[in-house]
Amino acid sequence: MKAIAVFPGKPNSAHLAELPKPSVSDVSDGRGVLVRVLRVGVDGTDKEINAAEYGAAPPGFDFLVLGHESLGEVVEVGEKVTEVKPGDYVVAIVRCPGSSIYDQIGSSDMTLDDVYYERGISHRHGFLTEYYVDDAEYLVKVPQALRDVGVLLEPLTIVEKGITQAYEIQRRLRIWRPKRAAVMGAGTVGLLATLALRLRGVDVTTFALDGKPNPNAELVEALDARYLSTKEVTIKQGAKTFGPFDLIFEATGASVVVFESMQSLGKDGVIVLSSITGGNRTLEVPADRINLDFVLGNKVMVGTVNANRDHYEAGVRDMAQAQTVYPGWLRQLMTHPVAGLENFKELFDTLSGAKGAIKVYCEVAA
Ligand code: BGC
Ligand code: ZN
Repeated sequence: MKAIAVFPGKPNSAHLAELPKPSVSDVSDGRGVLVRVLRVGVDGTDKEINAAEYGAAPPGFDFLVLGHESLGEVVEVGEKVTEVKPGDYVVAIVRCPGSSIYDQIGSSDMTLDDVYYERGISHRHGFLTEYYVDDAEYLVKVPQALRDVGVLLEPLTIVEKGITQAYEIQRRLRIWRPKRAAVMGAGTVGLLATLALRLRGVDVTTFALDGKPNPNAELVEALDARYLSTKEVTIKQGAKTFGPFDLIFEATGASVVVFESMQSLGKDGVIVLSSITGGNRTLEVPADRINLDFVLGNKVMVGTVNANRDHYEAGVRDMAQAQTVYPGWLRQLMTHPVAGLENFKELFDTLSGAKGAIKVYCEVAA
C-alpha cells in the first residue's frame, strides 16, 4: 500500500513510499484494530518535518510516514477488542507510551523521557497511508455524525489539554470562574481554542495579525467572540479595553507574543503556551516589570504539548456540542481538501502557500 513519507534530516524529501498492508495480528493479545484511513489533516509540524527541522524514522526504517491528524474507519478487530467494531469511525492517539511513570498511567503527553514516540512525527509511522493497525487502547471512537469534521479532533485535543491544565492549576484559587479570555492566533488551534472557551461561556477576544475582513475573523465573530487585528490594536490596548483576561491561550507560533501576553494577563490569571517555536529568536523585554506583575498578581504560565485519551474524549464531546450550538461552524474550517495520497506535492504546496487555508487535509479514501 501507498504512504506519504519523508527521509528525516533531508529537506523536501516528501515522496510516495510502499509499505505492506498491516494485519490485526500485528498487535499481540487479540487487541489489534485494522483501520482504513479516510482523511488526514496536515499542519505546521508536517511542514517543519518536511523541511528537516525535526522528525525521526521508526527503528529499522530510513523513512517516516507522515500524518498525525487522522480519521479512519474500523475494518477488522482482534478477538479481545470490545470497544470498537467494523464500521466505527476512530481517531488515533498521537503519542505512544514511553517509560516514565506518567507514560505508565496513560499520560504519555506528560512524559519525562527525552525521546518521545509520536505517530507521524517521532520514531513512529503516521497515518498518511491506506491502512494502519493499532491497539484498541489508542483509538478513540468518533460518532458517525462527526464524520465530516472528525479529522479536526487531534488539533482540538491540543486545546482541550491546555484548557484542562488551566482549570487544574486554578484549583489553587478554590473558586475559579474565568470571565474573560484572550486567544492569541486565529489559525486552526486559535480558532478551536476560541470555540472551546465560548462553549464554556467565556467572553473571548481573539488576536491575530490580519486585518478585517477575513474568513478567520468571520469565524471568530460567528462564535460571538471578538476579533482584533494587532495591526490596528496592540495586545496591551486590547487587554485594557476587553480585559482583564483570566486566561490567555497562546497559539500564534511566535515567541514574542508570549511576552506581550505576560504583560496583558489579569490578576490570578493563567497563560497557556502551545506554540512550538523551533527557531532561535532572542528578545529584549521589561523583565523587572513582568516579574513584579507576576509576583504581585499571583499569575501562572504553563506550557502544554500533545494530549492524552481524556482530552480526545473531551474533544469529541465539544465537537458534538459545537454541532448544535454553532451548526456548520466546524465544517467551515475544512477549507482545503487534496484528493489522494499520490498528490502529496499538491498537499504540501497547499499547506505552504494556499491563501485562506485553515485546515488542509488529504482525502485518502473517497
Ligand atoms: C501535534 C502534537 C505533538 C506536537 C509535538 C503537534 O503538531 O499536534 O500532537 O505533540 O506537534 O510534536
Ligand atoms: Zn499537529
